[in-house]
Amino acid sequence: MKDTLFAERLLAWYDREKRQLPWRKNKDPYRIWVSEIMLQQTRVETVIPYFERFMARFPTLESLAAAPEEEVLTYWQGLGYYSRARNLQRGVREVVATYNGKVPTESPEIKGLSGIGDYTAGAILSMAYGQASPAIDGNVLRIFSRLYCLDGDIGSTKTKREVASLVSELISKERPGDFNQALMDLGAGVCVPQKPRCTNCPVTRDCLAWQRNETERFPIKRPKKQPRPVEVAVAVIKDNDRFLLEKRPDKGLLAGMWQFPAVEQQTDQPLPAALAEKLAAAGVIVQIGAVLSGLTHTFSHIRWMMTVYSCQLLTESSEEEEPLKWVAASEMSQITWAGPHAKIAKLLMKD
Ligand code: SF4
Repeated sequence: MKDTLFAERLLAWYDREKRQLPWRKNKDPYRIWVSEIMLQQTRVETVIPYFERFMARFPTLESLAAAPEEEVLTYWQGLGYYSRARNLQRGVREVVATYNGKVPTESPEIKGLSGIGDYTAGAILSMAYGQASPAIDGNVLRIFSRLYCLDGDIGSTKTKREVASLVSELISKERPGDFNQALMDLGAGVCVPQKPRCTNCPVTRDCLAWQRNETERFPIKRPKKQPRPVEVAVAVIKDNDRFLLEKRPDKGLLAGMWQFPAVEQQTDQPLPAALAEKLAAAGVIVQIGAVLSGLTHTFSHIRWMMTVYSCQLLTESSEEEEPLKWVAASEMSQITWAGPHAKIAKLLMKD
């Protein structure tokens, strides 16, 4: 149905309308890499200031590779999904160690780096190295499901494969990086999720959904599974001017981040008792007191229903035991918090 005119129409529009974004200033693969990782699940407007601060502090692959992880996470704080930052640094260290500091130009090698999947590989290879490599994200899936009236679920592997093959056919061989970025801009500003702005679209004549007046029927989505609710009890333990904190395990949700000591509901045991028991096992005896606050935080797969208790410290073992640590109130703002625990800290600092 479509031919090279599709790419021409799209690129002519991109040349007129493209967004001025800080990572588009040059074709440095490292800059593109950082920006694409930050942009995962995050809006462009949110990313821009983070990207600029991050690049000012870590302007080169080498500077990021050499930085302590805690510092990298501090620069990521607020963007969420911290595993992205960890994997980015891991990947950058692999490039320094294995490829002499040069981001690989071959698809299997670049996809072998930590944190780089098909989309990021496609974005880097096309934008930095001019290779005709598709970069398929949610925007591109949505656009193509409308262009071709694809009836498959947009989240399915089958639909993703179908779209990848269509993009591979249509991608401009002369300007593949601009082609991919044009699709990103089209998805962000014109072919938006709700009520696509078809009157501003450069490719209406290529769009089957538009011709059939069915643009709002696509993409087809299966209903998402609701996040599973999990009760969490949190202990705020203050001793003079310091608070007891706990480091989360190195793997899994919010790995390695700091929180107030907490337990998740796993058995029928009442949560306050489970919390006191967990602390006692680490040599910290507390009396669980009044409820300070209740809050809810939703991740993609679970929802924490948190109850925060004020606890009185009765005794503690003389040695601090991992993963617990006393932190002075004045240092709380420098902690790399596990998501919602930052809100609790803020609440306490207000008092
Ligand atoms: Fe999207 Fe409308 Fe353009 Fe089709 S015509 S690609 S639905 S904006």
